[in-house]
Amino acid sequence: MDFNNDYTMTINGKAASSQETINVINPATGKAFAQAPDVTDAQLDEAVAAAQEAFKSWKRTPIEERQALMKKAGDAISANVKELAALFCREQGRPVDLAAEEIGGAAAWCFTYAQMTPPVQVAEDSDERRVETSYVPLGVVCAISPWNYPVLLSTWKLAPAIVAGNTVVLKPSPFTPLCMLKIGELLRDVFPPGVLNIITGNDTLGPKMTSHPAFDKISFTGSTATGKRVMESAAKDLKRLTLELGGNDAAIVLPDVDVDEVAEKIFFGSFANTAQICVATKRLYVHEDVYDALRDRLIAISQNVKVGNGAEEGTVLGPVQNERQYERVMDLMADARASGLKMSCGDIPEGEGYFVPVTIVDNPPENSRVVKEEAFGPILPMMKYSDLDEVIDRANDSEYGLAGAVWSKDKDKALEVARQLETGTVWINQNLYLPPNAQFAGHKHSGFGVENGLEGMLEYMAPQTIYVSG
Ligand code: NAD
Repeated sequence: MDFNNDYTMTINGKAASSQETINVINPATGKAFAQAPDVTDAQLDEAVAAAQEAFKSWKRTPIEERQALMKKAGDAISANVKELAALFCREQGRPVDLAAEEIGGAAAWCFTYAQMTPPVQVAEDSDERRVETSYVPLGVVCAISPWNYPVLLSTWKLAPAIVAGNTVVLKPSPFTPLCMLKIGELLRDVFPPGVLNIITGNDTLGPKMTSHPAFDKISFTGSTATGKRVMESAAKDLKRLTLELGGNDAAIVLPDVDVDEVAEKIFFGSFANTAQICVATKRLYVHEDVYDALRDRLIAISQNVKVGNGAEEGTVLGPVQNERQYERVMDLMADARASGLKMSCGDIPEGEGYFVPVTIVDNPPENSRVVKEEAFGPILPMMKYSDLDEVIDRANDSEYGLAGAVWSKDKDKALEVARQLETGTVWINQNLYLPPNAQFAGHKHSGFGVENGLEGMLEYMAPQTIYVSG
């Protein structure tokens, strides 16, 4: 596809624009470089009505056909990785090669769900009767995604929902609408009209969608504060819900690690994507025996990593994605400084972009804001511990329960620790790996429901049990 600077929504299989637009800012420059449509109320209704109409036939389309079209969608995304990655870098800030990995990941999700079929469970098969439970789609899905992984996290929703037989109205974040608008354009002729609608708008759009009575299901990824509002709004119509929310993930480093071997992995487990990852390590607990050595290695790495415009060769970490997030991270930084905490800060380029130095905070008190709050930016508190049971309690002392990590040469010991962490995902001697076929779920205030794997698909379906007498 030819990538021009025109961005249209996809409503009922057709391009839709709006007189009102929202500016899309390149976070590396702080300047607007494109406009996305600001959907009107009438267009939102039109998208929902199109999805409702399309549902009638899409749910009866054999799953093999739905899967085949999802495979075509994956092919279309794969064929445009280069163009999408360049656009991604401009709107999200991430270096182009790493952006390409996310686009490739989105295609991989399409391919995985193109092969996934919900089960049929037989509870009884006797002379008297057959009792069989199968899964049916829910209807029209409202999908809302954030700006940190705008393409992948949108695809986590649309791929299982559509293969399951639902139709979708997707809203990407107003900070990063462009790649999903282009993907909507790419897929316009892949799915029948109304199956996948992609609309963009300002801050008022999310609440309008979640309170729209015609949606049957909301799948939301974003902050815990917004997730609570979404849940309230869904209650009125008892809309089904999947919420993937914030995290303040702890990693625990045991005393037996080889610091040289793990330092870089721990560093990127925290700072990849400029630390704007829900499952990044945001609190690092290190045994006192290896604390100083690991701190010094992490600081050395932080001072060698190139932070800059993702379009420039050699950039490893881009800017923080938007001004609001930049202000938030800078506020945490200022609080840490005002509290007299010891910090090491890396370099940032000059200019207008939302650049934040890679910062490591040296053994702050457990109750400091930088430990208690999800920074969602490149400031990592590392804390010393001596007693394993006590540090597990500290790791679990959080309203969040998204993910965690354990680092040790002793895998059995690490597994014992992992099992005590109150989170939906735990990595041992690795980090951030999330394949499409494994369940991903947040505990506590990190979420509600599951994404990915077969269970992720069943979140877009309801069980139906049929009794047939013999
Ligand atoms: P956010 O909650 O501000 O926004 C997320 C999306 O919700 C955006 O599309 C936004 O426009 C929309 N929105 C805003 N207010 C809304 C409302 N009242 N009703 C409905 N929709 C509304 O989050 P963000 O700043 O875009 O993303 C960062 C947060 O997302 C972090 O807390 C991060 O941990 C979390 N996150 C979680 C996961 C996960 O899988 N658990 C993944 C990525 C990000």
